[in-house]
Amino acid sequence: MNISEIIVSKYGKAVSQCSNEEIYYALLDEVQRLAEAKHRPVSKKKLYYFSAEFLIGKLLSNNLINLGIYDEVKKQLAENGKDICDIEEIENEPSLGNGGLGRLAACFLDSIATLGLNGDGVGLKYHFGLFRQVFEYNQQTAVPDKWLTDDSWLIKTNKTYPVKFKKGSVTARMYDINVTGYGSTTNKLHLFDIDTADESIIENGIDFDKEQIDKNLTLFLYPDDSDDAGRMLRIYQQYFMVSAGAQMLLDECVAKGCKLYDLADYAVIQINDTHPTMVIPELIRLLVERGLEMDNAINAVSKACAYTNHTILAEALEKWPISYLKQVVPQLMPIIEVLDNKVRRKYDNKELYIIDRDERVHMAHIDIHYSISVNGVASLHTDILKNEELNGFYQIYPEKFNNKTNGITFRRWLLHCNPELTELISSLIGSGFKKDAVELKKLMKFKEDKTALNRLLEIKSLKKKQLKNHLLTSQKIDIDENSIFDIQVKRLHEYKRQQLNALYIIHKYLEIKGGKKPTTPITVIFGAKAAPAYVIAQDIIHLVLCLSEVISKDPEVSPYLKVVMVENYNVTEAQKLIPACDISEQISLASKEASGTGNMKFMLNGAVTLGTEDGANVEIHELVGDDNIYIFGDLSETVVERYKKGSYKAKEYYEENEDIQEAVDFITGEELMEVGNKERLERLSRELIGKDWFMTFPDFDEYVKAREKAYKDYENRTEWAEKMLVNIAMAGYFSSDRTIEEYNRDIWKL
Ligand SMILES: *Cc1c(COP(=O)(O)O)cnc(C)c1O
Repeated sequence: MNISEIIVSKYGKAVSQCSNEEIYYALLDEVQRLAEAKHRPVSKKKLYYFSAEFLIGKLLSNNLINLGIYDEVKKQLAENGKDICDIEEIENEPSLGNGGLGRLAACFLDSIATLGLNGDGVGLKYHFGLFRQVFEYNQQTAVPDKWLTDDSWLIKTNKTYPVKFKKGSVTARMYDINVTGYGSTTNKLHLFDIDTADESIIENGIDFDKEQIDKNLTLFLYPDDSDDAGRMLRIYQQYFMVSAGAQMLLDECVAKGCKLYDLADYAVIQINDTHPTMVIPELIRLLVERGLEMDNAINAVSKACAYTNHTILAEALEKWPISYLKQVVPQLMPIIEVLDNKVRRKYDNKELYIIDRDERVHMAHIDIHYSISVNGVASLHTDILKNEELNGFYQIYPEKFNNKTNGITFRRWLLHCNPELTELISSLIGSGFKKDAVELKKLMKFKEDKTALNRLLEIKSLKKKQLKNHLLTSQKIDIDENSIFDIQVKRLHEYKRQQLNALYIIHKYLEIKGGKKPTTPITVIFGAKAAPAYVIAQDIIHLVLCLSEVISKDPEVSPYLKVVMVENYNVTEAQKLIPACDISEQISLASKEASGTGNMKFMLNGAVTLGTEDGANVEIHELVGDDNIYIFGDLSETVVERYKKGSYKAKEYYEENEDIQEAVDFITGEELMEVGNKERLERLSRELIGKDWFMTFPDFDEYVKAREKAYKDYENRTEWAEKMLVNIAMAGYFSSDRTIEEYNRDIWKL
């Protein structure tokens, strides 16, 4: 690529005379052209990855890397006095996901394309995606995230599909984003939208009229579902996505010679969590409409579908009231009833029914009965599905259950976000790890190599300085680059236990006030969005922001401890935070985090994990060994038993453990009350003492000990660098290329 030529022909001037914006749009055009020029994989059978979320992150640099021209472009820009990082800043991050589940889908698309597999993504084009988070008065406010621009990675197609609701029809239009793999082929992410979406109906914040479906359908991702209208809108969105997607895929299959009854020879549909579940009855409906008998249609569709479970949290397993489905998509109800009746005739266990006594449709049950595969996303998670949550189903379909431990794409989470580390690794073991991540293990040879270890520490320091500069510009926050960076970034949820981290901070604050000063200062960084309707999550954000203020105003403590909450945590922020991290907080209540992928990104960038035996932490622990991770807390069996017995009484811990009592009392003490909101802080304190559903107290003492041990070990810089090295070396297993190879080998068979 010759940037000067491209720029001259587009703008008639030199690169040095262009604004960053002009350069960005020129590169966008050129990369689109190169992506289109790569060939599309061809095979009889094709994968359709259906997901309500694709948290893809910015695309320019990633595409340049995947096209193999990043270094060249960077160099040419530099020769003209331009910094590629400044050009990257122009791009808006597509706001098409909440967190881990959406990010996983994005990593998967990258790996599917990289491996040259024939597979496209299917989702929705949300105009404002999730919300943008702004902090005001130590609280989160949500404003629309206007990420769409006239010229973008989205390509408007002329493919449209009618989607019928009880209220009336809408027309789905398909938009495409090129998914450039790190290889020779390009796939597509298909995102559906309506032409009639009306951004002007948004009132204040992210409120809007939830009744006007033809205007609001694709405005936001999972709008507030705390009321009926919000829940109904989710059903509208889900059906819109799967109906358009199903029509598109049937057209493609028929064009290749599919006779409908042999659908599974042409298509495999991966259902990412339960949000796209209606694709099963919808495909059956479409096949019947096109002339297949009901039983044959059910058979054909079941053989083509596979389901991924992402959570065992009961509230997240969708159950839609029949009355809602009848109001939105009455055409599906007769089919869902047939599916349920087949189950009832075969099994007399009510737990397996699709429709329960309260007239609710269990979406996951449709997936499990009418698909070829049910997978969990980490080994512990899959075991819990088999032995606990879905045991009834496992009994009847043992062959359907399988594990696919999540992964991340190393192109984004190493090559792109940490070029300095990438270069060091290449200089030590060659570039083979870029294609075969397991080659990272070759780094183990350098465990005693002082020069290599020092280089690792230097790169970590550099990434910390870069993060410091970023936070200075983005939020006017000044952090000490020589402090320990202890980071917890992920969605805010009680099960992830940001509140446990906050209790530790209070404990540490009081200890420092009492005269016990840490050897190296500590910077604790949070980043998390909370669902607008999730009150306790908002309260926890409030607590962290208040703590940050109280501590920074306290001259006795502020030189040793700082608390930062990064605003609007997203993929772009993650790419800056993760390479700078020393200690990765992965402290969910054991059994509750299905896998986690943040944990993998941190490990890959040389952070050491402080975590519970939960999700993929278990596998990280096995890979790096006891000396290179800090594990604490009750095991999942203990937790599961405690829930079964209903024996947990938070109040007893509060009354018997002085440290817990002191920390919890601080939440409603005068220092915090002075800067905080009484109602929020009191509610949070009541919630902890009276309920603590996610059991922070039983793990508190061990957490404090483990964290202190990590801080102490940090002081021996060489030994710490060894831990960093082992983590990087063993991270290869968590490449999403490995995960996707397993999906293809066991499920898709493309
Ligand atoms: C990786 C990622 C997540 C998932 O983090 P977990 O710690 O696994 O929950 C969420 N949000 C963003 C922006 C991410 O990049």
